[in-house]
Amino acid sequence: MISTKNLKTTKSEEIFAAAQKLMPGGVSSPVRAFKSVGGQPIVFDRVKGAYVWDVDGNQYIDYVGSWGPAICGHAHPEVINALHEALEKGTSFGAPSYLENVLAEMVIDAVPSIEMVRFVSSGTEACMAVIRLMRAFTGRDKIIKFSGCYHGHADMLLVQAGSGVATLGLPDSPGVPKGVTANTLTAPYNDLEAVKSLFEANPGEIAGVMLEPVVGNAGFIPPDGGFLEGLRVITQEHGALLVFDEVMTGFRIAYGGCQERFGVTPDLTTLGKVIGGGLPVGAYGGRREIMSMVAPAGPMYQAGTLSGNPLAMTAGIKTLELLQKAGTYEYLDKITKKLSNGLLQVAKETGHAACGGQISGMFGLFFTAGPVRNYEDAKKSDSSKFSRFHRGMLERGIYLAPSQFEAGFTSLAHTEEDIDRTLAAAREVMSSL
Ligand SMILES: *Cc1c(COP(=O)(O)O)cnc(C)c1O
Repeated sequence: MISTKNLKTTKSEEIFAAAQKLMPGGVSSPVRAFKSVGGQPIVFDRVKGAYVWDVDGNQYIDYVGSWGPAICGHAHPEVINALHEALEKGTSFGAPSYLENVLAEMVIDAVPSIEMVRFVSSGTEACMAVIRLMRAFTGRDKIIKFSGCYHGHADMLLVQAGSGVATLGLPDSPGVPKGVTANTLTAPYNDLEAVKSLFEANPGEIAGVMLEPVVGNAGFIPPDGGFLEGLRVITQEHGALLVFDEVMTGFRIAYGGCQERFGVTPDLTTLGKVIGGGLPVGAYGGRREIMSMVAPAGPMYQAGTLSGNPLAMTAGIKTLELLQKAGTYEYLDKITKKLSNGLLQVAKETGHAACGGQISGMFGLFFTAGPVRNYEDAKKSDSSKFSRFHRGMLERGIYLAPSQFEAGFTSLAHTEEDIDRTLAAAREVMSSL
């Protein structure tokens, strides 16, 4: 590992300076700009396994994993080989392909709620479509979401959204008409009473409840025992749908996602990230009766030029095959537990209030005593301390998500040694905070 204590990032700085003149904020997606932690973002040159390299030649242990997809490690040789083969057959069909059947069958077999699936090109698209479907199926307009949960950047979902919206401190976004969000009701995460109240105040008007069953976009926040079960009961009582946004947690928290892990089956599910194996894919699916409303089987319109793209399907299929191997999720859980417990231990020994946790290969750390059960709690954490921690880790070759309001990710390529190195770096940095 290259020592990056006096991190030289001249090329990164040059490229990013040029990028800022070419693209808003110099990036193609806001969180990448490091605004919440300050300092300059690192410009990547290549990625492999658990590591990323920047344009100045620095190597980092990566805990972002392209924001989730890289669960098998970056550029896994089997995924790359499968892509090489698929590439020879062309890059886009715009017609049915057998690859879609294969990935659809894998998704349906894995995810308890999904009997039929539609592929799209991003998580945002999947979430937009699923909202339309909830409304089409129930004939109701209102939806409930939770503050701090991010479901992509569609207008009606940019209400108390986490992720980059949290990072930039935008409660909402200009350009979203009031009328569009008027039907979006919000409740605090882990608060069943608030959800009940919303249903009581809007009788017969709520199409359904959508949530991240484990939150990753307000930092890592797991559901309290009984929360998901409670939502299942309340939605059923009111003839409303329950939608799990498993764009982040699908094939990550468990092969079958949070619904497998917690044993609560929603009506509809959105997927993305992992199922694209690093290429742009999203999907939504659920009960056959509901999915049959989607065009051309039914009247709810939704389409996409590149949907079901053969390269994206190929990367997804190979990634899921790799995840099916015995011991995958046990391994992710083991190394991530070691990381998470280690970070908390280091924080304790160096005198910093901190809390956090992990499930499988997803983790989080907040600089607050906690507990963090919702977005309000998360916001109590010390962001300035996190920024300094982030910078210190970067200088020691550890690449963490550049915001406290983002979950971290490990991969099958991370070794115990990588974790040990990370914890040693954390000890140095926290001792000096
Ligand atoms: C990332 C994410 C999205 C949006 O997916 P994109 O592919 O970035 O559009 C939606 N929901 C959740 C839970 C996510 O983590």
